[in-house]
Order: sequence, then structure tokens, then C-alpha cells
Amino acid sequence: MVVEDEEALARLAASYLQRDGFDVEIVGDGDSAVERARAWEPDVVVLDLGLPGMDGVEVCRSLRTFTDCYVVMVTARVEEVDRLIGLAVGADDYLTKPFSPRELVARVQAMLRRPRAGGAATGFDTGEPGHEVRVVGTLRVDITAREVLVGGETVDLTRTEFDVLAALVSHPRRAWSRARLTAEVWGEGWVGDPHLVDVHLANVRRKLGDDASAPRFIQTVRGYGYRLGPCT
Ligand code: CA
Repeated sequence: MVVEDEEALARLAASYLQRDGFDVEIVGDGDSAVERARAWEPDVVVLDLGLPGMDGVEVCRSLRTFTDCYVVMVTARVEEVDRLIGLAVGADDYLTKPFSPRELVARVQAMLRRPRAGGAATGFDTGEPGHEVRVVGTLRVDITAREVLVGGETVDLTRTEFDVLAALVSHPRRAWSRARLTAEVWGEGWVGDPHLVDVHLANVRRKLGDDASAPRFIQTVRGYGYRLGPCT
């Protein structure tokens, strides 16, 4: 979610994030930002400090009462960063205007690669260091053990089917283009039919007992690709 009252800047940031596969919403003021964040549950909030009405500091404090999402605070002056860090408003990272949209995307990507302590929307198995488990509703994907359970029942996936599912669950709410998902599973240099991923996805859905018209786990993002969800 991009919270910025300067429309051109908001659209620029959003377009770079979308190009990188993110599902982006733009909000122009602080009150709407808090309201939207409650309903939409974004993974990352890019939050401008100077906003009409409730400012970025108040928005960040308010967000922290109900969400553990990543917050990148955007300020107009570099001196403000120290002040904000001192205020302990709870942002995860800071960017000073003017910033390059590429830098923003790089920062967001870097944050999302870091597992959050305790895990927020998805659960990390804390039993053993490095043991990664993701839970989405009744779906439990043990990344480390390469094991999938739905409602406690084991689901037998092929290696590629598992890799496709693991990519999706590793980034809940990210919209994956076919090309990006293909690159993730088969590697960057792979040349082949991009719709191969659809075939594997269809198999994963069938095995999970997921209905494409009323998905519990994997949603089709029309004209684009796939996204994990709904996350309940
Ligand atoms: Ca502003």
C-alpha cells in the first residue's frame, strides 16, 4: 500500500512495485490509510510523512496497534530520519525524497526476504532454527521437510508442483506473473512455454482440493498469473 498525497509520485512508486509483481493500492491521506490497512492487510506500507490530516507518524503508530506489516517511511528531509528513529514510531525502514523508485523496490524486496520474528500472517515453526513452515487456513506447507498437509491429511505433490506451491506460500498476497513464477521455479535462463506453470498449478489445485472458481488457497489473477490467498 502506497500512502502519498502527491499523486504523480504515488503512481510512479506504484508502477515500479507492480512491475516487480506486487499488488498495489494507493491511498492519499492518513485516515484512509489506517482504514484501508485494516481491511486490506497489506504486507508492506510505503508511508509518506507529510500527509493531509493524520500525518505519517500518527498513521504508523496507529498501524502498529493492529498490524505487523513492513512500513517504509518516506520523508522530505534527511534530518527527519534521526528524529523519527528517536520517536520510535515503529517503521522498518526510511527513505528520503527524492528517491529512485528502483531503490524503493530494492528496499521492499530486501525486507521481504527477512523472516519476521514470530511470523505474522504466516507461521514459522519455531521448533528448530531455520525450519520453515507456512500455514494458510487449513493448508500447512512445511518448506524444510517438503511436506504438504490439508486439514491434517498429507498431499502428495511432485517436486515441481511443490516448488510452485512453495514459491506462492513464501510470499503471501504477492501476485506472481507466469514469467516470474516460471523464473522462480525453473530458473532465470529457462526457455519454454510459460503456460507450463498453469499445468502444474492446475495439478496442485486438484490435489489440494481447491476449486479455481472458489479458491481457498490459490487465486487466479486475471490476465496476469497467480496469488496465494485468501489468507485466513
Ligand atoms: Ca506528502
